Amino acid sequence: MRRPAEDAVAVSRAIDVAFERRAERARLLAGGAVAAREPLRFAAGLYRVQGRLAAALEGLHGRRALTGRLTEDVAGVVEASGELLRFAAENGPAGLAGVARARSGEAKSLCGSRLLAFWDADRPTEPDYLSRALLRPYVEILAKLGIAPDRPLRAGHCPFCGGAPWVAARRSAAEGDGASRFLACAVCGGEWSFARIRCPACSEHNPERLPCFRSDTYPAVRIEACETCRRYVKSIDLTLDARAIPEVDDLLSLSMDLWAESEGFDRIEPGLAGI
Ligand SMILES: [Zn+2]
Ligand SMILES: [Zn+2]
Repeated sequence: MRRPAEDAVAVSRAIDVAFERRAERARLLAGGAVAAREPLRFAAGLYRVQGRLAAALEGLHGRRALTGRLTEDVAGVVEASGELLRFAAENGPAGLAGVARARSGEAKSLCGSRLLAFWDADRPTEPDYLSRALLRPYVEILAKLGIAPDRPLRAGHCPFCGGAPWVAARRSAAEGDGASRFLACAVCGGEWSFARIRCPACSEHNPERLPCFRSDTYPAVRIEACETCRRYVKSIDLTLDARAIPEVDDLLSLSMDLWAESEGFDRIEPGLAGI
């Protein structure tokens, strides 16, 4: 039987590997992409910083156990957040960098309040991508430790942490008819199976109200939209390329998001580029 300290090391390594795998995919794609090079380079760096933040939180967990209640755990997240704030301030897209610079000088209590506001918001009026990026390593550590986050769950959201779906994926179905659909969580990085013909935002299930849009430029990508609530999720077909990591590969086809926006559709949860 392994001792707790060994388990902790195993958890930490698994999370390092997950963030490193995403960083490596982003680095690889950035080499071949022209339009998406900057967002992919930023993503690669962000994943590496998030991996270190996760390791730091994991270290804190050894001294004072994480509870899954953010009101109790937030001080640890704030304490470990300096490197991510600096990275976003220096390397982020203009909007995010400005927010990160402003927050770098804030009192720790205010930084904590912002994370709690993000955590508790049912549907935020203003997106807060910086809090989302800061909380991801925390929630991912909770997932690996099997500690349920204390956050209300909602239909169409992550069954583990209540996060919104930022991208969808299609994989070969085990029993063979077509592909099954998964939604990926913007907060914990987990994924869950979801009906193919259902809007994650409003639960519409009339196929005539759920159009799919594709482009010859990105054969693995489609925009899965809903005429009822005018929202959409971008879906990546992993049956065409199993190496794809949906939240990373998403960044290659930002022009499809711009097109969807021009058609009056809102993405349910923007991806790493904030679009
Ligand atoms: Zn989640
Ligand atoms: Zn809908």
